[in-house]
Amino acid sequence: MQLIDSFGRTVNYVRLSVTDRCDLRCIYCMAEEMTFLPRQEVLSIEEFTSLGRAFVELGVTKLRITGGEPLVRKGTIELLQNLGQLPGLQELCLTTNGTHLTQYARAIRDAGVKRINISLDSLNPEHFRRLTRFGDLDQVLAGIKAAQHAGLKIKLNCVALKHYNADEVPALVQFAVDEGMDISFIEEMPLGKINDHGRAAEYISSDELRTRLSRDYSLLPHEHSHAHAGPSRYWQIAGFNSRIGFISPHSHNFCGSCNRVRVTATGRLLLCLGNEHSVDLRAQLRAENYSEAALRAHIVNAMQHKPEKHFFDLQEEPQIVRFMNMTGG
Ligand code: SAM
Ligand code: SF4
Repeated sequence: MQLIDSFGRTVNYVRLSVTDRCDLRCIYCMAEEMTFLPRQEVLSIEEFTSLGRAFVELGVTKLRITGGEPLVRKGTIELLQNLGQLPGLQELCLTTNGTHLTQYARAIRDAGVKRINISLDSLNPEHFRRLTRFGDLDQVLAGIKAAQHAGLKIKLNCVALKHYNADEVPALVQFAVDEGMDISFIEEMPLGKINDHGRAAEYISSDELRTRLSRDYSLLPHEHSHAHAGPSRYWQIAGFNSRIGFISPHSHNFCGSCNRVRVTATGRLLLCLGNEHSVDLRAQLRAENYSEAALRAHIVNAMQHKPEKHFFDLQEEPQIVRFMNMTGG
């Protein structure tokens, strides 16, 4: 079985956002005051497990657990353990802000996760606090160490904002090189209404960052990522083990090769990051006459609603009202 949308794209990658809650409030992701979902609206660990099983039976080979901050939810490790046992699943991944990795890194690896993404926007403690509103850089650096010791392969994620951390991009790359990790820079996306900064004023393009980095490093296009699906375009840093990725939803639209869908914490299947098209899977999971076959059929039908592409306009009010913590980045 395979999931194929009406434009012929195969969907084999699903991100599950297991909570909208977080212990940080990154300025590009959340407003300062956030109202979080009542718990009964959020899918249970059993419901997420059923969803994961359904997707894998439909040919999905990669699942990513994200949020919100997935490690603030009790039960995330149990979910990883459940999903790690699904026959047919080739990759189980996690995206985290790193604050709880000293506690959970080993359990994450033992559940079958091999690669994790950790967000790191600054190596300056004060700037880090400003970007996350109250984050403690040392806690995250300790989490990165713990993940390395556990044998997890790490990719760092950094949302680059022109007047906040763009000047730190070379230092972040140097850190990744020193630690033998990959690093991706993400253009900020207009998801949800934030009050901290103007998104247009903080925009800096991937090409500008890459030009700056080319002064210090010789960057070789990583052919596979340029030719195949996925929003990240990678450059190998000549002479080192690290790669630099650029996720450029504004400057290099990646819709043509999109292979992914997302599920929110409430079980809404989002067919596109930059559109509101969605299908309610929670109603199926909680239906009196629930059956695995009916759930699978619902997911197959949902693919017909996947839009061809997204369009982000920096100058206008956000057309997408949901925040990234709802979306599952
Ligand atoms: N809490 C975890 C973390 O921070 O890694 C996982 C969830 S977070 C929503 C996933 C990713 O989305 C992070 O790398 C974060 O930097 C990114 N992100 C959040 N809001 C964004 C936005 N408005 N534009 C671009 N990326 C964003
Ligand atoms: Fe939390 Fe991640 Fe959003 Fe930052 S980006 S507020 S860590 S969910």
